[in-house]
Amino acid sequence: MKKYQLMAPGPTPVPSEVLLAMAGPIIHHRTPQYDAVFVEVRAGLKRLFQTSAEVVPLACSGTGAMEAAVVNTLSAGDKVAVVRAGKFGDRWLDLARAYGLQVVDLSAPFGHTVEAARLAEALKAQPDVKAVLAQHSETSTGVLHDVRAYAAVTRQHDAILIVDAVSSLGIADLPMDAWNVDLVVSGSQKGLMLPPGVGFCALSEKAWRKTRSATLPKFYFNLADELKYVAKNEVRFTPAVSLMVGLREALRLLEAEGLPNVFKRHDRLARATRAGVEALGLELFAKATPSPALTAVVPPRGVDSEKIVAAYSQSHNITIAGGQGEMKGKLFRLGHMGYAAEFDVIAGLAGLEQVLADLGQPVDFGASVGAAQKIFAEKS
Ligand SMILES: *Cc1c(COP(=O)(O)O)cnc(C)c1O
Repeated sequence: MKKYQLMAPGPTPVPSEVLLAMAGPIIHHRTPQYDAVFVEVRAGLKRLFQTSAEVVPLACSGTGAMEAAVVNTLSAGDKVAVVRAGKFGDRWLDLARAYGLQVVDLSAPFGHTVEAARLAEALKAQPDVKAVLAQHSETSTGVLHDVRAYAAVTRQHDAILIVDAVSSLGIADLPMDAWNVDLVVSGSQKGLMLPPGVGFCALSEKAWRKTRSATLPKFYFNLADELKYVAKNEVRFTPAVSLMVGLREALRLLEAEGLPNVFKRHDRLARATRAGVEALGLELFAKATPSPALTAVVPPRGVDSEKIVAAYSQSHNITIAGGQGEMKGKLFRLGHMGYAAEFDVIAGLAGLEQVLADLGQPVDFGASVGAAQKIFAEKS
């Protein structure tokens, strides 16, 4: 028997408390039982998003929530600025083009970031930009973009800032109200430690105002209609009931740990992982601020990263992730987000040493594990 371990940058493992909560009989969504779940979930989501606004849950994956953000705030022909330095940035571009939006493409090479100064220049030169689309954590490259700086720029303009926080909510600090981020999009299967299937949109006053004039077509993803129900603690359509019951449990776990501690834990896991891979002489793919959600690693020269991913799986029953799109073969990604702790990182690094040795690479056994343990031994 080889114990299965999920160490991909999403979906992430689900804690037993959450699995047990979801294993109960299905309750109907228009009952006092569901009302009690939803009232607690709504309050918990506000604290997690660090906003006083209602957070709208949708039964869809993270990309569905990205689409909801676009169709509810924009009209055909509108101009948007896309901050793009990875495959999820590409997704914003594809989404914008699919809806006939004009795109101001603010791209940087994969592994890098887009400086806020470039966004400031673009918005100054093109004041008709209606929205800025960006990622907080770009999961394809392992880079954390400076959303706080982007928000400081957009708040001086009519444009709203829409942030894909699917791999940063409950992982990296993103105080939506305090930073003036207008629309935060997220999903259930990363920091929230849930199965995939629920997306979220949280809108500022400025973003809700945009929904009144936005004319892109929508029916299922109509956020203004959703809000009417959410504000009354009701649901417009059948929610993903089991996931919402699990969400209540996951929010309780995050709350018990305390949000600042949740961010600290992810930061420690990320620093230990980086120290570990660097101790093996490997290079990080991120050339800008690394994301605390995952670590993207360049394989040793001459080794296809897909071989590393396959060896983790075949020899050790551990799922990690390779590179997406044009990065296929050029990097592998170790997730350390959500239900992840110190000894998961140790196991992932020990696995890496074995995998590299299996592939005929010289390995100083214990080097990466020791480097990680040194980080964990630091008092903080
Ligand atoms: C996981 C992820 C998504 C969501 O993808 P889905 O497969 O639609 O859930 C979006 N953006 C980022 C940055 C992600 O990491």
